[in-house]
Amino acid sequence: MIERERDCVIAGGGPAGMMLGYLLARAGLTVTVLEKHSDFLRDFRGDTIHPSTLTLLGELGLREKFLDLPVTRLSTLDAVIQGQRMTLVDFGVLRGPDDFLVLAPQWEFLNFLAQEAQTLPGFDLRMDTEVTGLLHERPGPEEDPADDGVVVGVRMRSASGEEQIRARLTVAADGRASALREAAGLIPRESGVPIDVLWFSLPQPVDPPPATLGYLSAAGMVLTIDRGATYQSGLIVKKGEFEELKRAGLPAFRARVAQAAPILSGVVDTLTDWKQIKLLSVQLNRLPCWHRPGFITIGDAAHAMSPMFGVGVNFAIQDAVALANAITPALQRGVAPSETLARVQARRARPVRLMQGIQGRGHRLIARSTQGQQVLPASAVTLIRLASPALRRLTARIIGVGLLAEHVHTEAASRGDGRADPKTRPETSPSGG
Ligand SMILES: Cc1cc2nc3c(=O)[nH]c(=O)nc-3n(C[C@H](O)[C@H](O)[C@H](O)COP(=O)(O)OP(=O)(O)OC[C@H]3O[C@@H](n4cnc5c(N)ncnc54)[C@H](O)[C@@H]3O)c2cc1C
Repeated sequence: MIERERDCVIAGGGPAGMMLGYLLARAGLTVTVLEKHSDFLRDFRGDTIHPSTLTLLGELGLREKFLDLPVTRLSTLDAVIQGQRMTLVDFGVLRGPDDFLVLAPQWEFLNFLAQEAQTLPGFDLRMDTEVTGLLHERPGPEEDPADDGVVVGVRMRSASGEEQIRARLTVAADGRASALREAAGLIPRESGVPIDVLWFSLPQPVDPPPATLGYLSAAGMVLTIDRGATYQSGLIVKKGEFEELKRAGLPAFRARVAQAAPILSGVVDTLTDWKQIKLLSVQLNRLPCWHRPGFITIGDAAHAMSPMFGVGVNFAIQDAVALANAITPALQRGVAPSETLARVQARRARPVRLMQGIQGRGHRLIARSTQGQQVLPASAVTLIRLASPALRRLTARIIGVGLLAEHVHTEAASRGDGRADPKTRPETSPSGG
């Protein structure tokens, strides 16, 4: 079955897809978000809502409502490096009111966005619907047959069977294993990553220390993200080491965790089955080109970010805001010009490249802990402590606000905005000017 044309169809209901869907519908456009899972309840995903995202929520009038949810606020990020506790980031130095970081399970954030978006007339979210391919149209018979032409929508599969949906703009926000970017012939360039993360949940010890991002020493690195009664914990291992660890057995695994983070010694015994431990194969890659006529990728689909510094969610959201700012006026005229899509890539690619460069250096440093080496000489740890106030300001800015903060420039459409009904707008090619 072929559905009537939408202004935009988005594959993937993660942070990038949901934010873009919300912004376009808020501007009065018709948008369908397709999500292959039946809910947002997936564990071990990015749980951080950074100050820049709070600012964006403020610009959308959603900030206070979001902060009313049961979320955890953090003003600082501490780590214990080679036995010394230090504050690596102090969000308190940022301009208020967004001078803290929020920890919220990602499904809370996505459910929140979905609920808000569903109040907008043009918004349509289809869960349990997997996008299986792209629809192409060739502008004319004289075109090169090797040319795929213009992307005009997607094919999808759901309980109701195989369907198609046509749109002026198709967006791949389907994450780091994006099937749609592959269908568009876009291939990411990989940066070598020496580490993987093994995620598991642990109860907090009886007398927990102040919130601590992680423990790092020659004994290893363990992340301990505060989730109320539990820690979302992650052991950093050498890339590909998981199978070897399984062969060595759970007691050895538990001992390694406790050695790297002695604070977990009393709770690590709750790990009794490998099923409790999930492998995140850390990736760092980006597409040389994010777009095709009528089509663009954003978020992890365009650039898989490492979990280092937990910036993946805010980069995904900032891509969505940049795309919505650039494309809304064109979509309101019924077109999705290729030049506009190219401008979005040009704007977002630089901060992505810079952050991935920082993450790559961080990986190389952290990888030493997986080889039993000290990550930093003792003198460097002391130096970091001494330089800490200046360092904290810099890290707060880079991690909390980012390298290019986006702001919402689109207007909310009034509900009776008098815009032409999408069904009666003149037909125009998605790649048209
Ligand atoms: C274990 C882990 C921990 C992380 N920790 C952090 C952190 O603390 N902070 C942080 O900021 N970032 C973190 N990240 C990174 C962060 O989760 C991602 O960068 C961010 O979620 C990217 O958002 P996205 O919307 O681009 O993609 P995703 O969040 O990956 O969303 C893509 C969506 O598309 C759906 N989908 C995929 N294929 C299809 C299809 N064919 N049809 C329909 N739907 C489809 C998926 O189900 C998914 O819901 C972490 C990542 C992982 C894996």
